[in-house]
Amino acid sequence: MDSPLMASDGARTLGRTGTITTPHGEIRTPAFIAVGTKATVKAVLPESVRDLGAQAVLANAYHLYLQPGPEILDEAGGLGKFMNWQGPTFTDSGGFQVMSLGSGFKKVIDMTAVDASGPDDPTRGHSAREQSALGHPDRDLAVAPGKERLAHIDEDGVWFTSHLNGDRHRFSPEISMNVQHQIGADIMFAFDELTTLQNSRGYQEESLERTRRWAERCVAEHFRLTDERSHRPYQALFGVIQGAQYEDLRRKACRDLGAMPFDGFGIGGALEKENLGTIVAWCSEELPEDKPRHLLGISEPDDIFAAIEAGADTFDCVSPTRVARNSAFYTSEGRFNLSGARYRKDWGPLQEGCDCYTCQNYSRAYIRHLFKAKEMLSHTLISIHNERFVVRMVDDARNAIEDGTFWDFKEETLGRYYPAAARR
Ligand SMILES: [Zn+2]
Repeated sequence: MDSPLMASDGARTLGRTGTITTPHGEIRTPAFIAVGTKATVKAVLPESVRDLGAQAVLANAYHLYLQPGPEILDEAGGLGKFMNWQGPTFTDSGGFQVMSLGSGFKKVIDMTAVDASGPDDPTRGHSAREQSALGHPDRDLAVAPGKERLAHIDEDGVWFTSHLNGDRHRFSPEISMNVQHQIGADIMFAFDELTTLQNSRGYQEESLERTRRWAERCVAEHFRLTDERSHRPYQALFGVIQGAQYEDLRRKACRDLGAMPFDGFGIGGALEKENLGTIVAWCSEELPEDKPRHLLGISEPDDIFAAIEAGADTFDCVSPTRVARNSAFYTSEGRFNLSGARYRKDWGPLQEGCDCYTCQNYSRAYIRHLFKAKEMLSHTLISIHNERFVVRMVDDARNAIEDGTFWDFKEETLGRYYPAAARR
């Protein structure tokens, strides 16, 4: 940890700045991690991802396991080499996708946003992880009563059906570790069971115990693989904290996993948007202070501030590229949609004063034309801007913590971004 975030009364909060060191470079935290699910930040060249200031990329073990297969990434020399990304990389364990794309029943972090800005954006109100599942066969992650569950959880692991071709596959803690070692990201996550807010308290307890046992198995297999593959750069393993909305379960999970030799921790699972800061804070209070904490899958600017204040060091978010493909773009005044007729002859950049490549070179009118003409370049240009917008916001938050100006920065940023909320 470099410096703590101080409250306005001078008390220390859970927020902090810091540095995570990986074999592929340092990550200065708090940091926004760009999502590159299938070993690509959708529509954006790795060189552009670097130029817009993203410090690391997070890919997904489930997707890369199914396609192209982890042995391909292993032979390529790992995820970074395969995708020509020189910086740090993460892989999500695949547990979320195995269970959410498989079993259905509302296995989703429902962080339904208050619609306080960007009124013309139809994609608002979905959580980042919910959005990440859009486009798959069971896109709303809910299964009609009686429909066959596609993922079956047992003590040893999960049977699931590929969303690509219907093939049956097995994931277990050991298989996830093998897959993630082959993929070769700098930071990996332990295989966990995702529960939902709809699961009973009894089931949450049972599931949490299973996730604890799976965490122990992940650590054992990770150590074995680290020895066996000592010619490869060291890969760090983060445990994943579940426990849904229950304070005692979250704290217990943190104490249980905090005592295991993990390099850091992911905070995952079901949580409602309004409880995000509270749940992260419970975890930050319990987890070892000298290890990094990653919040898995967040959504919107207010979530970012809530996460930073509560002690999250890194977080990933698929929204910047996902909404870009619907022509939505971020500005300091909120999120807007380029398809609106008012941008037809708008010669200004997506955001006045933005230092991104897109805003330096292209007008709203041109990018709107590309989108309307279904040209792929619109996705690229808007994604670059949106990623830069979020990266810059988090960089500014980090600097503001170090300068002691975080609370003013937060008030000004969110007051501008959510003007309707500010007026209430
Ligand atoms: Zn821009």
